[in-house]
Formats: sequence, structure tokens, C-alpha cells
Amino acid sequence: MTRMHAGFTGVVQTSWPRPRGWARPGRLDAGVDTLPGVGATLAKRLRALGIETVRDLLLHRPRRYERAVEEIPISQLWGDEEVAIAGEVVDVRSRRLGAHRTIVTAHVRDASGAIGASWFNQPWLAEKLKPGTHLRLRGRLGRYGFDVRSYDIGSARATADFAPVYPASEQVTSARLRELVRAALAAHAADVLDPLPAELELPPRRDALAALHFPADERQAEEARRRLALDELVALQLVVARSRDEDAVAAALGSPGQLVARYREVLPFELTPHQERAITEIDLDLAQTVPMQRLLQGDVGSGKTVVALYALLRAVEEGRQGALMAPTETLAEQHFLTVEPICSSLGVRCVLLTGSVGAAKVRDEIATGVAQIAVGTHALIQRDVEFADLAVAVIDEQHRFGVEQRRALAEGRAPHVLHMTATPIPRTLALTIYGDLAVSEIAKPPANRKPVVTAWVGAERSSEAYARLRVHLDAGRQAYVVCPLIEQSETRLARAAEAEAERLSRAELRGYRVGLLHGRLKTAERREVMRQFKEGELDVLVATTVIEVGVDVPNATIMIVQEADRFGLAQLHQLRGRVGRGAEQSYCLLVSRDKVELTDVAQSRLQALVETSDGFELAETDLELRGEGQLLGTRQSGWSDLRFTRLGLDRDLLGRARVLAAELRDEDGPWQDEPDRMLRDADHRGLA
Ligand code: ADP
Ligand code: MG
Repeated sequence: MTRMHAGFTGVVQTSWPRPRGWARPGRLDAGVDTLPGVGATLAKRLRALGIETVRDLLLHRPRRYERAVEEIPISQLWGDEEVAIAGEVVDVRSRRLGAHRTIVTAHVRDASGAIGASWFNQPWLAEKLKPGTHLRLRGRLGRYGFDVRSYDIGSARATADFAPVYPASEQVTSARLRELVRAALAAHAADVLDPLPAELELPPRRDALAALHFPADERQAEEARRRLALDELVALQLVVARSRDEDAVAAALGSPGQLVARYREVLPFELTPHQERAITEIDLDLAQTVPMQRLLQGDVGSGKTVVALYALLRAVEEGRQGALMAPTETLAEQHFLTVEPICSSLGVRCVLLTGSVGAAKVRDEIATGVAQIAVGTHALIQRDVEFADLAVAVIDEQHRFGVEQRRALAEGRAPHVLHMTATPIPRTLALTIYGDLAVSEIAKPPANRKPVVTAWVGAERSSEAYARLRVHLDAGRQAYVVCPLIEQSETRLARAAEAEAERLSRAELRGYRVGLLHGRLKTAERREVMRQFKEGELDVLVATTVIEVGVDVPNATIMIVQEADRFGLAQLHQLRGRVGRGAEQSYCLLVSRDKVELTDVAQSRLQALVETSDGFELAETDLELRGEGQLLGTRQSGWSDLRFTRLGLDRDLLGRARVLAAELRDEDGPWQDEPDRMLRDADHRGLA
């Protein structure tokens, strides 16, 4: 604590510590607990924010910056506007206020006058505020003189103006994070390597990191962001470039045969023209020995899974294997529940591989080829699962393309890969970012589908929402209730969901059969709940966002999302996609906190959902709204995993990133590990 300003020399770029001797980038992997003042408790709180290493800390992006305020003479202090004053400490005093509170008061004088400035609960400050110390204070006139919100001691000028505000939790304040970042920069700035050539017209990476956290002004902060965005895009492009193994050979699968013909027959519906077109495109790819790299893009419920299964069966009918991979076990199970009955009616052996029971036997079946289709998480091809002859891999909801596939390469043979996503990146952006992916789009859902009617009501009318939900239940339909996204950790979220399910079954949902689904259930329990809901043994599923993707129960026609304002737009759209999957008219009721409490952005999000059910339109809206914003929730679920890039603003960087990536692709430099690291970080943030 007392070392807060040690080593800090100011924010001007050139005054930042220059590297002495060799940079040691490995040191950035040191745990945050190697920083002064970080003990076990703080380290744990930081971990909850996704910060484990010094690198994580340096890359923790401020959500915004405190705007600059006017610096005025002390004699002109008036009113309650936030301002800055600067002067010298005349004297300082520390007092106790009751058992647990202290107040430090310093008299500060400038040429025009003097005032008492007070700090609460920071007793150690008394030591530092020796008479004669120069201070710059930001705050406002209050009851005890000047209420200090932030301050600089000596010549530092970082705190008061353009101070970063982090997406912090209540347990780690922005001020605390600022201190930590400062310490990290002081100790580690020299370890930051600059992998890109110097002639970028953007600051070097090291300076960008410093300026990200302590910019002198808005322009510097924005330049820093852009530089880090460029790094991020280069890493992404490298992933793409490296996964493009020019020598990889896939099995050419010829033309569609008997099995897929029977598949079409067992489907209880005709494929839509969009699905047919996607299938034609996939068939063309599969006939080649160049491995397919195709993105199947379509809104939630548009019928992608049906197409994906087609591709998998194409492998099976050639005597080879298919793999279907989802980002979480719940989703994998869900896919399995959808896909397995169809496979079984076709006489195709389909297995589910999860971390738990029976894994050895299943692995064995996969390795010997007894299993023709394997469903699981991405671990299916990331880890040591051996396939007898994997020909087609479908990867669901995974934006971090390439790596899995690269790892799956065996003896020069690569599977054909179909990436599915229901979180539509606007088409142009998808093409620019994932430059080498072919895109198939299912632009329209099946015709029998009625768009979900969405309504937004304030909390005061939530009882009406439940009344409406009961009408559906009484008509034999089923429903979802999505719990608020208030908790940071999955475990606490699960506990909150449990409590909420209990409360509901005693109150609004009394007399109905209520089930509970959250991320902390054991696999078997989760599977059982899903089965019960699917078979109509439960009326209502109270759930966390684990139902976001993949759950498919056409009889569920209404959904209530509690505290919907806390969710991101992409997430809400995904959630809403769980209803409206049958021919019935379906409803999504977004219950928000009191409307007057909501930010403009939150209101716009909810309004956008009411107005359109088109995922592509919503994706564009989200990009616009995200200008300022953080997506809510621990999971940065959204249209990209990019941390610094703002796709709306940085289109010019994409082109540059692609050129740089092409140059760096085969270079043995500091970039070698960067793409993997980035993917790891993204995994960590997205799926932890
Ligand atoms: P996605 O994977 O894009 O979310 P799914 O493939 O899961 O969509 O399909 C959503 C629902 O629509 C499923 O219940 C599926 O059986 C049904 N479905 C898919 N294609 C059609 C179609 N052509 N006609 C009618 N229903 C369809
Ligand atoms: Mg689906």
C-alpha cells in the first residue's frame, strides 16, 4: 500500500522506463501476487476478474477514462461541481471516527487561499502528506472541506485527469487497480516486447500499454487502444494464416449417397431453400481434397444443426467419422440429445464424449471407428482423443478458428471443417476478419416460424408477465425463466438460481412443475433435467444463461428474462432463440429494473430487441451501442472476443493486420506464442 507511487515517474511517454538490457517477456507470466502488496485475498479477487498474471493486469482494459476537470484556485471553490485544486500541504491530522473509520485531514494552500481536504479510511496517507508536499486533488466541496476523490502526490498527474476506470468489481476498486497497474508497469515495462515493425504511426507496444492506463489525454488513450487493437488483429490473422496449412489433404467425399437420402426422408420437414443452398455449397467443398473451411452462419433457430448433421453423415456414408463440437458440456449434451435419435433411426452409431463416466469406453469406440459420429466439447480434437478416421468436423459457436483444426492434423490429413455460428457477425466483417473462410448463410428461418413477440416491461409489472406465462402453462405449453446475471462467479450464480427457483415455486409458479438448470449441476443431473423438460415432465425451466445456445424444445413458447437490462444484446438475442422453435406463436418478456434507473444504452438494447428479431440487424446495433460499452456479465459473450478492437472504428487496421501477419507468419520472433496466448486468454475469459 505505502509503495503506491514508488517507481512511478509520470505519464509522458518518453519518461517511461526504457528497457535495460534484455527484455524478459516470460516475466510477464508471473502471477500478480509477485507485485508489492498483493496477498492471497487480493490475488483471489483479481482472479475473479480474469487477472492472474502481470500480463493479464497490463491488458486489463479500462472501461472508460475519468474526464478532465478544470483546475481552479482554492479561493474560487464553490458549488458542488467536480474540480481540481493544487497546492502544498500545510499540516496533516489523522482522527478515528468510531471503531472502524478514520479520517485524514490535510490543510492545503495555494496562492489564493487554503482549505482542509479529507480522506476517509486511508490512515496511511497521514505519513505521506508531510508539510510542504505538493498535491493535486480532484473532488468537490463537501461538508468537511474538500472531499477528495482522487489525488496526486508530487509531480504525478495521472490520477485526476483521464484516470482509467476499470470494469472492476466491488471487491477491487478502480483506484486499487490503478495502483497495481502502476506497480506492474514500473516493474515490468521493460519486459514488454514490441513485435511489430516500428514504422506504424502508432506508439510502440510498451508505450501503448502505459498510455492505455495513464494517458495524458483522450487522443493518447485512443492511440494506445488502436495500437493494442492492431496487435490483437495481427494475432488473430496469424491464427488464420497459420492454420491454413497449404499441404493439408482431406478425404474427398464424392457425391451425396444413400445415407443422406434417407436422412432427408426421416426429417419431419422439407429443407428450406437456404438450407438447400448451404448443403450444395458444402457438398462442393467435400468433393475436394482441400480441407473445407466454411462458416455456416444463421440466426438462432434458422436450422443450422440440421445442415451440420447432413455434413457429418456425408462422412459416415463414406465409411469415415464425423465430430460435432460445442463450447460447453451442456451444449454438447444438448446437441447429442437432438442428433442421437436421428442417427439411431438411420443406424448410425453416435456417441457423446464428456469428461465424466464411461469416457474410456467411448474413447475406445472413437479410436476403433465403431463410433461414427462423436459429439463433445472442443476438447474432442484439442486433446488426446484419437479418431479412427475423422473426415468432417463441425465446430459450434467457436469464434476462435483454426487452432483446433491445426492440432487435429494427423499425417497430412485434415478434416473438412464447418464452423457454425448463431451470433452473426455482419457478413462483411466476418469476411474481413476470417479472411479465408467461405461463408454459407441461412438468412431465413423455416417458413412455419412466427417471429417471437418481444415485450419489455419494468420490474413493477413483472407479476403481469408471470400471469401471462401461466396462461401458456395452463394451455399445455412450457416456459423458461432466466435468472438475473448479478453474480460474478458461476458458483454464486448457481446458488442464486437455486434460491430463485425455490422462491418461484412457492410464489408465481406455485402448483407447476419447476426444474432448475445451471452450470454447476453434475453432468448426469443436467442431462436428467433436460430430458424431463424435453419430455414434458417439467413445465418451467428456471435457468442461468446455460440455456443460451442449443436447447431445443419446440413446445416452450414463452420466456421471462429477469433483470434483462443486465444482459448484453447478443446474449438476450441468443436467449430469446430458445422460444419460437415450433409453429406456435411465442413470446419473450424482458423484465428490466425500473426504467428510470437504466442507462440510455441499456434502454436502447432492450428497445432494439422489441423492434426486431433479425440477428444481423441486432449485431449492427450492438456494434454501434458498444462504442462506450462493456457487455455485461462475466462472460463477454458477444460478437467477438476482441478486447481492444472496435470493429466499427478499426476497419482500416484489419487490412494492415493482414499484411503484417503475412510478413510475420514464418518469422521466428516474439510473435510466435502470441496467437496461442491470445486464444488461451479468450478461452479463459469466455468459458471459465
Ligand atoms: P439452429 O441450429 O440454427 O439454431 P436448428 O437446426 O436447431 O437451428 O433448428 C431449429 C428448429 O427448427 C429445430 O427444432 C429443427 O428441427 C427445426 N427445423 C430445422 N429446419 C427446419 C425446416 N426446414 N422446416 C421446419 N423446421 C425446421
Ligand atoms: Mg442450434
